[in-house]
Amino acid sequence: MNAIFDPHVWAAVPFHFWSVMFFALGTIVGSFLNVCIYRMPLGFSVVSPPSFCPHCRYSIPFYLNMPLVTWVVLGGRCKNCKAAISLRYFMVEMLTGLLFLWVWQVFGHKAPALAPAYWLLLSGLLVATFIDLEYFIIPDEITLGGILAGLVVSIILPGLHHTSARMEGFRLAMLGALVGGGVVYGILRLGKLLFGRQKMVFPPGSRVLFTETALHLPDREIGYEDLFYRQTDTIHFHAHSLELADRGYKNVLVRLSSSKLQIGDESLKPEDVPFLDAECSEIILPREAMGLGDVKFMAAIGAFTGWQGALFSLMLSSMIGASVGVALILMRRREWSSRIPYGPYIAIASLVWVFWGRMILGFLFPS
Ligand SMILES: [Zn+2]
Repeated sequence: MNAIFDPHVWAAVPFHFWSVMFFALGTIVGSFLNVCIYRMPLGFSVVSPPSFCPHCRYSIPFYLNMPLVTWVVLGGRCKNCKAAISLRYFMVEMLTGLLFLWVWQVFGHKAPALAPAYWLLLSGLLVATFIDLEYFIIPDEITLGGILAGLVVSIILPGLHHTSARMEGFRLAMLGALVGGGVVYGILRLGKLLFGRQKMVFPPGSRVLFTETALHLPDREIGYEDLFYRQTDTIHFHAHSLELADRGYKNVLVRLSSSKLQIGDESLKPEDVPFLDAECSEIILPREAMGLGDVKFMAAIGAFTGWQGALFSLMLSSMIGASVGVALILMRRREWSSRIPYGPYIAIASLVWVFWGRMILGFLFPS
């Protein structure tokens, strides 16, 4: 067992043979990540049933399920119904293959045993990025699962935290998770105090839905856990028309907090109203760019990278976010910025930490 962690054994095998193998492994993992990206936000199991075409439900036989190759051979179409299969499937497989290869090139010589740990981390970052971009959420499987994975991996491979003692690895992973999650949580609380709320404007005739778990806006969905933190957090809007399960209203002001729903002069308990469908052209939300999902996401990253990696990723992500904001203003596309979630910035910043973090720290703080 120890032999596979012994660098000398690995050095005996041609390095580039493994480069090719690990690229291929990456594309296979990538095709699984595609399944996660598609199914996790919809609440489907990622293990069964096997891959199927999202259009016609045609179950894809294993011999057709070759990463990269299948998509190219079939010209990006389903073999059965000929519906276009998103380029994203090919991109994610390619990207995962390249990331696996890159990790191997960087860590393969000095610390080959760490490669799987970074593969795991980068796979999680990739899934989180694609889901967050589309749904504005990062599923708990990724964030809470990531925290757990980071803690376990740190015990198995304490070298991730530059120590050889397993308990020390676990302690540093815990510290990283607490610092990462804690700082984002602090920023979130502070942001609520400073900025309070956010107004969103929609085209005339737009509808917003309130279901039992989330607010559905025309362009995204926000879970209530990201909207209501404090008793005073309130959503308000003027509804041109409003429908509940058993009655309707016209031209009313609506105020909703975690404990109270006010429609005009009427007060209701939110738990008695399972569903609300409103036509409105603007809504005021108690919310900023980051949500509780980012707290858990940052904690997961901290469990892998330690507190330095967590703080580094956070600082760099805010710089990337600010640069993108400025670029969008220069491109006169400011309205796009409200459609970019924060998770992908964190993911890119963490990737920078994995490959160049120590080098950058050494440059900033020469010892
Ligand atoms: Zn099909």
